[in-house]
Amino acid sequence: MPLVALAQSPSYRSPGIEQAVERALSSVLGDDVTLITGKRVLIKPNLLSAREPERGVTTHPAVVGGVVDFFRKHGAEVAVGDSPAGAVRGVKRVWEATGMLELCEARGVPLVNFEASGCIERSVDGRDYPIARALLEYDLVVSVPKLKTHVLTLITAAIKNVFGCVPGFQKSTLHLEHPRPDAMSKALVDVFSLVLPWVTLVDAVEAMEGDGPSSGSLRRLNFIAAARDCVALDACLSRIIGIDPERVPTTREALRRNLGTASADSMVFPLLRPEDIAVSDFKVPGNWKYKLIPGIAAGLLRRLVWVLPVVDEDACTGCGDCVRVCAAGAMTLEAGCASVDNDLCVSCLCCHEACPHFAVGTRMSRLARLLV
Ligand code: SF4
Ligand code: SF4
Repeated sequence: MPLVALAQSPSYRSPGIEQAVERALSSVLGDDVTLITGKRVLIKPNLLSAREPERGVTTHPAVVGGVVDFFRKHGAEVAVGDSPAGAVRGVKRVWEATGMLELCEARGVPLVNFEASGCIERSVDGRDYPIARALLEYDLVVSVPKLKTHVLTLITAAIKNVFGCVPGFQKSTLHLEHPRPDAMSKALVDVFSLVLPWVTLVDAVEAMEGDGPSSGSLRRLNFIAAARDCVALDACLSRIIGIDPERVPTTREALRRNLGTASADSMVFPLLRPEDIAVSDFKVPGNWKYKLIPGIAAGLLRRLVWVLPVVDEDACTGCGDCVRVCAAGAMTLEAGCASVDNDLCVSCLCCHEACPHFAVGTRMSRLARLLV
């Protein structure tokens, strides 16, 4: 039976946050902590783009610091790495803004740039994926995501965080090839099944609700959660925020492939129970019901039912990040402001994720609004 450890942490302040991380990881690893000694461990946070920790877009450095300390204490050689979707102007900006550079310099931990290491091709049922070559140098991958809503996959947590192991712009290309949630979730679960983290710890001290993963609102949940079974972990987190796990396409797809369990009855909770920390009225993305329309119907209804990015001209600085991340070539800069070509746009919303100034919102057709 999978263990899911839920540990309270009312803030990111030290030493409380490190103690919560230690409690959660010790509870799920048990005697397996002895396996850590002498291992090379890669810690993979969610560093979506160059936002400061207090924005709630990325895993908080205090949580990553707690995980670094835990694995070092048990004799591992540790590094931190990711390939942020919004690193179109270089990963160093992301390391700096998210607090990861300061954390890793203070602890003497190397930061690994997945884009610089190149990639290896891996396949799932004939579908090919580029995976960061850097991962080959480590014995264990430890995933440290942030709990957020997601405009495409409803939530992003344990399973989706692994997608960051696909280097750089190749993530956008996969989004372009799979604009619908079910198809994209299949690709996300493919990548997840290729990497399979050894253990996952989710930062839910401050989660994101509404139009996540980058333009939602902060929601204080005051806990962290750890498990070896990512499917169980995502299912448990979904229930805590009032979402049926079967509605989350990545969980549904992973269950279909028997990559874990979602049944609460078959999980063990060694610390808090989900009902101790469950919240009501957690806001899901505004476009979510539109995304439930089956792919074929969505294709037929495309002219009537749509969700498209819309640029706030006052907020746009003309930085061009959205242009660089758009694999469809639908974003251009005109007179220093981003502009969307709706005919080319496939509604993947990568631009919404990547914009560092929260200038890309979404708008829905009248019929889409009626459906939601
Ligand atoms: S919308 Fe404007 S501010 Fe946002 S990424 Fe595009 S160019 Fe930059
Ligand atoms: S404009 Fe935005 S939503 Fe449309 S295809 Fe490009 S990145 Fe995706």
